[in-house]
Amino acid sequence: MSVEGFEPVIGLEVHAQLQTHSKMFCPCSAAYSDAPPNTFVCAVCGGMPGALPVINRKAVVYTVMVALALHCTIAKHSKFDRKNYSYPDLPKGYQISQYDLPLAQDGWVEYDIQGHTFRCGITRVHLEEDTGKSTHTRIDGRDVSLVDYNRSGVPLLEIVSRPDIRAPEEARQFFATLRQILMYLGVNDGNLQEGSLRADVNVSLRRPGDSLPTSKVEIKNLNSFRSVRSSLEYEIERQRRLLDMGELIPQETRGWSEAREVTVGQRSKEFADDYRYFPEPDLPPLVLDRRHIDYLASHLPELPQSRTRRFVEGYGLSQAQATVLTEDKELADFYEATVVAATPAPPVMVANWISGDTLGLLNDRKLSLAQSTLRPDRVGKLMLALRDETISSAAGKRVLEEMLVAGEDPEYIIDHLNLRQVRDESELGRWVVDVLSSNPDLVLSYRAGRTNVLQHFVGQVMKRSAGKADPVRARQLLERRLSELD
Ligand code: ZN
Ligand code: MN
Repeated sequence: MSVEGFEPVIGLEVHAQLQTHSKMFCPCSAAYSDAPPNTFVCAVCGGMPGALPVINRKAVVYTVMVALALHCTIAKHSKFDRKNYSYPDLPKGYQISQYDLPLAQDGWVEYDIQGHTFRCGITRVHLEEDTGKSTHTRIDGRDVSLVDYNRSGVPLLEIVSRPDIRAPEEARQFFATLRQILMYLGVNDGNLQEGSLRADVNVSLRRPGDSLPTSKVEIKNLNSFRSVRSSLEYEIERQRRLLDMGELIPQETRGWSEAREVTVGQRSKEFADDYRYFPEPDLPPLVLDRRHIDYLASHLPELPQSRTRRFVEGYGLSQAQATVLTEDKELADFYEATVVAATPAPPVMVANWISGDTLGLLNDRKLSLAQSTLRPDRVGKLMLALRDETISSAAGKRVLEEMLVAGEDPEYIIDHLNLRQVRDESELGRWVVDVLSSNPDLVLSYRAGRTNVLQHFVGQVMKRSAGKADPVRARQLLERRLSELD
């Protein structure tokens, strides 16, 4: 991508549904995804005149947790405002949001790209409600628009970044890190595909040294990490070409066409949107108790960055391995529970098995850890069997595969498949004698000094034992037997 002479100035606006039981301002269930259309609706979230909203306490707690994790200043006094616009999926004709007194402001988040740490400022974190969902389709040969209000009023967190980002890959990683933090806090399910987490990006170009960038273009509703990066790459190139030709970049909102891989103009922002914000008259100001904020701060779950550091320092893992294992909380929890179950097997060995073969097998089968039958106590037992050399590492892989298919205990699988390594000298001795007596020529070459045939003999013993011979013992026995032949 060529952006010679120009520096991209990028910011993000992220919307995340909060995983509360009920909606933002009413008792309707917020777990709407499998419900038939318009079954989770009441007078409040359906926008009936006169219905009164009530603030969801849990949503406020979750927002404070996110704000703390993003090092924001939390407002002791904030308020809700009406953002007026009319759209079929917005039954009230306005969205309850926060305008000039958001719940939190001025924070930052750090993210890593190939060992380099970047920091992006956070302008604000506020609380609002989601809209309903429109579907445009055809019924009986007629074009129709359907609306489902189940999503209407679901608590929505909005996080706005400062325009500190300078490259599409940084924007992608910033978004991925934000998702990871929200999931570690347990406030959002991270489901980009279903839109419970979505990003808008904005980008303008600036000549180095100029203080003012060109006008800002916003790309709305991106629902994958890839589209965050690709849409920015496309947009930077488009704007650079326009500037090269001496044209002006109009300030506008664009969409991303996944199929065509281009941004498409949606609406001009020449006149800033006038939402006619005013304080929500049906809700009291939101006043937070300092002691409650302090309590939440001291009970914040461990966040990904510090967990990665702890894995490096506490378990002796490499930075890269610790990063893989802490990428999602479920995997990190699984790893730590397995380390406990596998004691005294070394944590590094457990990390190798989980980040290597285990994730590999799960990937092949397109399974997540939760969907699989793997349990930390069982994987721990497998680690113990490997550590005390009850089984070879080749057999370990077979056991792991079998555990995924059958969900059985590794001890049962080891016995059932007869995988225990044979280390008993009399049993090993029989295979050794067999191999040597059936290869007299090779024995002669060995004795003539071609000691590398020893490896061939070990291989033959392994073959005869169907992989069960302990290769180290077999090698010792072979060497001893060959020297005795002198
Ligand atoms: Zn409702
Ligand atoms: Mn918003």
